[in-house]
Amino acid sequence: MYKTQAMVLSRFELGEADRVLTLLTPHDGKIKAIAKGVRRPKSRIGGAVEPFAELHLVMIRGRTFDIISQASVGEAWLNLRDHLESSATAWYLGELAQRAVEERATAYPVYALLRRAFQLLDDGMAPGRVARWYEYGLADALGMRPEVDRCVECDRQLDETETFRWVPALGGVLCERHPGPPTEQVGLSLGALKLLKAYRRLDIEAIAALRIPPAVEAEAEDALRRFLRYVLEREARSLAFLDEVRAGP
Ligand SMILES: [Zn+2]
Repeated sequence: MYKTQAMVLSRFELGEADRVLTLLTPHDGKIKAIAKGVRRPKSRIGGAVEPFAELHLVMIRGRTFDIISQASVGEAWLNLRDHLESSATAWYLGELAQRAVEERATAYPVYALLRRAFQLLDDGMAPGRVARWYEYGLADALGMRPEVDRCVECDRQLDETETFRWVPALGGVLCERHPGPPTEQVGLSLGALKLLKAYRRLDIEAIAALRIPPAVEAEAEDALRRFLRYVLEREARSLAFLDEVRAGP
C-alpha cells in the first residue's frame, strides 16, 4: 500500500461498475489505477475520484493496475467544471501531460504545472492564455523549450526588421538567411514572435494582463500547437472538442 496525491488525466469505464483512471502523481509520474465499484451509488470513493481536483489516495499495488483503496478530495476546482471552454481546455492540458509523462517516472514539474493551470482556469483566467503558458512550460519541462531569441540555424540574434519562419522540427525560429528545410515551416509575424517571447519571460499574471490583437494571439496559438504536436509526435485528440466548443453553436 502507498499514499499519493493525484489528478485524474483520463478515464474509461470497465465492466459493470468499475472505472480505469490514468492519474498524474507528483512523485510516481503517471499511474493506471482501477476504482472498483465506483459507479455504484453507494461507492465510498465514487464522489471523490473526479477530474479537475487534487486527490489524496491510498493505493494498493497491482500487476496491471494499482487499486484505489481510499480517496478523498484535497482541492476541487469546481468553477473550472462549470465553464465549458475552461473544462475543455483542462481536458486538453491533461491529455498533453498524459502524453508527455512516462508511467512510474518522476514528473514533479509537470504535476506542479498542471496543478497551477487548473487553479488559473478555476480563477477565471482566459483559457487560451493558460493553455499557451502551459504548452510553453510543458515543452520546457521536457527539455525542449522553443528558441525565440536566436535563429535555430545560425545562432544569430534575430533582428526585428527581418522575416521569420517557425520550424518546430528545428526547435523554434529560423532567420531569413536560410532556405527553408524540407520539414514543416510557417511564417511568423513580429507580433507573434514578441508574444512567444513574452510567454517565456513573463509570469502568467503579467501575460493575462496583456492586450493582444486576436490575430497575433491566433498565430501564437498555431505556432505552439505545431510545436507541441512535433514534441509529442501527434496531435492531441481533445483539441477537436476544444475547437468545437470555442467555435460555439
Ligand atoms: Zn539564421
